[in-house]
Amino acid sequence: MLLRTIKKLKNIKGQRVLVRCDLDVPLKKNKKSLVVVADDRRLKNNLATINYLIKQGAQPVLIGHLGRPAGKLIKNLSLQPVAKRLEKLLGRKINLINIERFIGQAVFKAVKDNQLGGIIMLENLRFSDREEINCKRFAKQLAKLADIYVNEAFAVSHRSHASVEAIQYYLPSYAGLNLSLEVTNLASLLKYPRQPLVLIIGGSKVATKLPVIEKFISLADYFLLGGAVANTFIKAMALPVGKSLFDNQFIPLAQKIIDNLFQNGKLDKLFLPFDVKVSSAVKRVDNLNSKDTILDIGPISINLYLNIIKQAKTVIWNGPMGKFEDKNFKIGTYKIAKALLNSKAKIVIGGGDTDKIFNRQGVKNNIFISSGGGAMLAFLAGKTMPGLIRLKL
Ligand code: ADP
Ligand code: MG
Repeated sequence: MLLRTIKKLKNIKGQRVLVRCDLDVPLKKNKKSLVVVADDRRLKNNLATINYLIKQGAQPVLIGHLGRPAGKLIKNLSLQPVAKRLEKLLGRKINLINIERFIGQAVFKAVKDNQLGGIIMLENLRFSDREEINCKRFAKQLAKLADIYVNEAFAVSHRSHASVEAIQYYLPSYAGLNLSLEVTNLASLLKYPRQPLVLIIGGSKVATKLPVIEKFISLADYFLLGGAVANTFIKAMALPVGKSLFDNQFIPLAQKIIDNLFQNGKLDKLFLPFDVKVSSAVKRVDNLNSKDTILDIGPISINLYLNIIKQAKTVIWNGPMGKFEDKNFKIGTYKIAKALLNSKAKIVIGGGDTDKIFNRQGVKNNIFISSGGGAMLAFLAGKTMPGLIRLKL
């Protein structure tokens, strides 16, 4: 899939460009009890596009969301600390402008006049209840603020939101540089995967992950599962999982995947943990009682998984193997991460939590860390991507 990127834009000097950024970063309180950005890696993905537009003489107007205010003005979810960090990263002043339920005259005037100079950023778009319902009127008003629209937010490109989809009806639309890199990487992986391809899926959000496994039945050579995803499969095989986290609603889909793998002669390529760490001990997965809670994969499973990873030429990983935030249950996840860091395979990693395991420094070129969790899964599962449709060449 090829996208029309901002490199195609000519003569944009003096034009205002609405850039849908990925501004959704974690926040924390610093020693002085001020709210600051805790991790700015996602913010950095916006820099190339913003700097490129400035270099061409255009005026970027940055838009994005933070967290889930669900249409209410929630002070703690103001983009103010994000603007501050982005100012540092860009070395330029940013003027944060409040928004209203609909983008009114005041916003329009503030953007048009921009008397303070600097780059304009609109406050959290999700403060308006119009954003997430893909409101056309809201999108139209946003469009009035600029001449061109750029999508640089891969992480929300699977969403039909006003600043992602509807807006593209009202402005000439282009892909940002990071967005284009994402799509090129993921699309080439689907088109020409070097085999063996190993799909590693874990984590808690079963609903977004099972469709990817289903889509990969014919594409992947091995399926290594952990987390609540594995638990749902274990349950689907009628084994007791005690108090472990699983998703009851997705047992039928897990069963369907098992049947399909069987029919494709690939059931032996589906790896569920053979042993697991429960709160106090390591147990065989077929030997759990009603009080046990699976919190990590066990040492035999780790070895098995690592042996398969060694053979891999392509790896896709989303979702931790266990409750990795707790040091007693992080071993499975960290051993997989370490094996991938040492691997020469082409590796794509995505997911808000999976991402946390990797420090970007020291990650080699063969590893691509996606800026989207749900978006990466939706793309890989072949779902429609409302934020990309109109950007195709
Ligand atoms: P990602 O954000 O990488 O897509 P998810 O959000 O789906 O991943 O899942 C991450 C969460 O899953 C983590 O908070 C982790 O603690 C949790 N998790 C993984 N395995 C288990 C488990 N066996 N039991 C409970 N929680 C788990
Ligand atoms: Mg997550």
